[in-house]
Amino acid sequence: MITKNLHIVEERILKACLKVSRQRSEISLIAVSKTQPIEAIEEVYKTGLTHFGENKAQELRDKNLIIKHDLQWHFIGHLQTNKVKYIIDSAEYIHSIDSLKLSEEINKKAANIGKVQKILFEIKTSNEESKFGIQNENDFFELIEQVSILKNIKAVGLMTMAPYTNDENVIRECFRELRLLRDKAQNKGYGLTELSMGMTNDYEIAIEEGATMIRIGTALFGDRNYN
Ligand SMILES: *Cc1c(COP(=O)(O)O)cnc(C)c1O
Repeated sequence: MITKNLHIVEERILKACLKVSRQRSEISLIAVSKTQPIEAIEEVYKTGLTHFGENKAQELRDKNLIIKHDLQWHFIGHLQTNKVKYIIDSAEYIHSIDSLKLSEEINKKAANIGKVQKILFEIKTSNEESKFGIQNENDFFELIEQVSILKNIKAVGLMTMAPYTNDENVIRECFRELRLLRDKAQNKGYGLTELSMGMTNDYEIAIEEGATMIRIGTALFGDRNYN
């Protein structure tokens, strides 16, 4: 089942790449394994994927303790400062930085273990009430400047979630906004390269708009069981 799902996803990724003359190698596929059992992660790992995404700190810690393969864990959920300790030794990337307080806690915990933590800033590009993320450009540039002096954090890119809608234009607009903000940051001399955008519902649009990391759960694993 998962192998077949992966084939379908890969075909659609390639098609989207072709449409805008991008190389498949420019895009990392992150398998979002939240709520999925260890066996499902093992199955995906066997197909050759090594990037996995989780959105709950304890769940990531627990899975990392059990799985012995050399995976790259991406923390993609909202992160409270008191839970940084659960993921600091296992997360390759943290995608959801939206405050100085959180950045300083990560910096401190990373320094304790002699690590430079790679992070992405989460930008709120949609008007949805429930979404986390930095609300406006001024706040973003203020934060990235403050974070740039923290020695144990390396900012590598931006992340966003488009609203769940069938309106392709609304989705595209969110992704475009993220790319323009990344480009603007680059022009100001910040070394951001990554654009983490695109999920099961919208990853092809994200690729067309420049995504370098796509985060896919349902299309790979099937529906999540929250019980
Ligand atoms: C759950 C989740 C995903 C994956 O969602 P699917 O629609 O199942 O592909 C991607 N990004 C974030 C931040 C998530 O929480």
